Amino acid sequence: MAASDVGQFPAPALPEVAFLGRSNVGKSSVINSLVGTKIAKTSSTPGRTRSINFFEVRWAGKPAPELIFTDLPGYGFARIAREVSARWPEFIEPYLKDRPNLSLCLALIDVNIPAQESDQQLVEFLESSGRTFLVVATKADRLSGNQLQNSLHAMRERFPGVTIVPFSARTGAGRNELWQAIREAMAGG
Ligand code: GDP
Repeated sequence: MAASDVGQFPAPALPEVAFLGRSNVGKSSVINSLVGTKIAKTSSTPGRTRSINFFEVRWAGKPAPELIFTDLPGYGFARIAREVSARWPEFIEPYLKDRPNLSLCLALIDVNIPAQESDQQLVEFLESSGRTFLVVATKADRLSGNQLQNSLHAMRERFPGVTIVPFSARTGAGRNELWQAIREAMAGG
């Protein structure tokens, strides 16, 4: 089962960035915000498995895609269908562990609410996998300056040593910083 699922992945030809987070965390909005700028856009979907969507990202004016975004469900989220959580060990874990061209993982966590058990599990998994990853603190525009600083402080205490990028798909805050992290990871930095 796992082997044939992995076999459905597109050939590992381009650097990949994985987006992980429970549903409603703002994952689609982050992806759309990143690719909606004038420098990049999604083109055709090169592949799709039952749990992972692959999006090609092509810079405007460039003929070929240079990057793949992969969209994965969060780890062990209690409210996702049992079927989906069962797929973590089946092929999301193998993807995160073995994919040779996976350059960067982004763990999306809603900054408006205390980090959930599933967020903790996701960060612990990424730490143990040895992957380069950072936390994207989503929907940052919903909090006032002080509230946001307090929430980010609580997140930093919860995830010591992890880079946390506050992000708002609504205002574009954090977009440049995230693109910079992606470009560094693509360059192998
Ligand atoms: P997904 O299920 O993780 O893909 O989440 P979506 O991107 O569909 O977003 C879930 C909900 O959060 C939607 O109602 C969005 O409008 C809202 N949302 C997402 N990002 C932001 C943001 O940056 N700011 C605000 N205020 N709302 C957001």
